[in-house]
Amino acid sequence: MEHQLNMSAAGIKAQIPQIRPHIQRRGRKVFFLVSRRPLLELSLEEIPLYDGIDGRRTLSELEEMHPGACNRIVRWREAALIELLPPIASPSGPHLVVIEPHMDDAALSVGGRLLHRWGRGRTTILSVVRWSNFTSYMNLKRSFLNVNEITDLRQKESALAARLLGAEHRCLDWSDAPIRFCPPERWSLATVESFNTYPQDFVLAPNRRDVSLLAEQLLQTLELLTPNELWIPMGLGDHADHAMTRNACLMMLAAARDRFSGVPIIMYEDVPHVVDAVGHAEQICATFAECGTCLVRDTEDVTDVFEDKLRAISVYASQFKLSYMEPKVRGVAEREGGAVGRFAEAYYRLQGNPCLPPASRLSRDCSGLTALHTSLRALLPEAARCRRVAVIALPSGHLGRWKVDRESLITAFPNADVHVRAPENIAWQAPEGGKNSLKLQFLHGGWGPWVGLLFRELFRFRTPTLVLWRGAYGSGRKRKHKRAINLLIKLLLPFRQVLFARTLNDFSFILDEELARSPIMRSASLDLAPRPDKLTTGVSSVRSTVRNHCGSDGPSHVRTHP
Ligand SMILES: [Zn+2]
Repeated sequence: MEHQLNMSAAGIKAQIPQIRPHIQRRGRKVFFLVSRRPLLELSLEEIPLYDGIDGRRTLSELEEMHPGACNRIVRWREAALIELLPPIASPSGPHLVVIEPHMDDAALSVGGRLLHRWGRGRTTILSVVRWSNFTSYMNLKRSFLNVNEITDLRQKESALAARLLGAEHRCLDWSDAPIRFCPPERWSLATVESFNTYPQDFVLAPNRRDVSLLAEQLLQTLELLTPNELWIPMGLGDHADHAMTRNACLMMLAAARDRFSGVPIIMYEDVPHVVDAVGHAEQICATFAECGTCLVRDTEDVTDVFEDKLRAISVYASQFKLSYMEPKVRGVAEREGGAVGRFAEAYYRLQGNPCLPPASRLSRDCSGLTALHTSLRALLPEAARCRRVAVIALPSGHLGRWKVDRESLITAFPNADVHVRAPENIAWQAPEGGKNSLKLQFLHGGWGPWVGLLFRELFRFRTPTLVLWRGAYGSGRKRKHKRAINLLIKLLLPFRQVLFARTLNDFSFILDEELARSPIMRSASLDLAPRPDKLTTGVSSVRSTVRNHCGSDGPSHVRTHP
């Protein structure tokens, strides 16, 4: 097996140089995107050669036009300004389709295995997310947020990385989780600041409607691509786009069992998310096993192509520097390699009938979400009789996708007045006020308003209370501390049911699962005639097109930019 980066000198002459999409020439200087520090200064005679690199001419053609081109281009490749690509070929043979949530996941997770398949068949990398405003400038708090520009750049990087991996790149039309949560036109440097402080606040659980819509789109796309083998992400870690993609893939496979009956299905471990997701793969395997889907783990040694994999990953430079990502990728691969100096990638063969268990069972927050399920199940039969409900968000709480998720409160408690109180530090997530029976009020200034709130709530016995805060599930680091805080909150709010959720989005997610699980519950909550002043829209039918505030988006996949 020979791939382009290890070719002989003669082979290199047939290669096609291409300037990396994030490299820009301004005068004689060459820069990384909008950076001010040049990577290189070209001599006057080098400029025609640099401009002659058009992604079509081969190295030998450029050498003919510009004697000495080869040496310069090799130097520029070493400086990561250009890549050398093999001549375009249309390989025949079996068609492998790799589904990835974002443009980079396939290279990070299975780049080595793809390099091993170089030239043995056709490979397509299919990204779910197209639109994004994320670049590494976000971490530097620089205002470089143009969605169209960034999306175009990421697509070009992906096409280039795919060619280095011997694949073609395609993508669906979804938006990245942060701009599903907060539409691009609402982003400012203050939003960037919030994103840097709490990036997880921008990545919320997908709802079932989004998952089924994505499943439909994947099926339509795969009908056209007709894969002979399919690789899908395992959804390790906390990223909602990874969970959504995994769930949609499984929903599609379960629904179109006959169509994919002869197609080997592989689940790959999501790199680098696997680094922090200790025990998550085992949890996912056990959950699938309960519904009859067996995941058989295996690894493939990729030591011989590991440096080439890193090179392909480095092409995604608009998102991260290789110096940041390499230790994580190397660490995971070394762990799987099993011996010093060996690198491997882990994957799972899916055997038996594909199924999709309840999404909460696949989440890393499974135990906390199960507790929320239990509390909600106990409360729902009485919920229609509730006249008053309190929602208290603590400073680390989250109001979810407010305009959608608040509807879940109305669905759950159709005849209650819902009082939502939140601290001013999360006022950016939702607009204050409200109409009819659900009102959001922010508490401004110090402890005084909180003491007053607790005092008033103390005597509101039998008022179901939902408390939103980051430690709600009592898991992870400082779990004893978090559980003690939950206990204290319960003591401060006696004679009522107190529910804990990390975000209002989690509450909505669990309510949705609970209603889907139990038609009786659904009728108890949805079919009882609500008071005339109630909003009557059900949680899964809310697809508001009004997007005038962060956390207020409608359908997640819809393009929210020009
Ligand atoms: Zn990803």
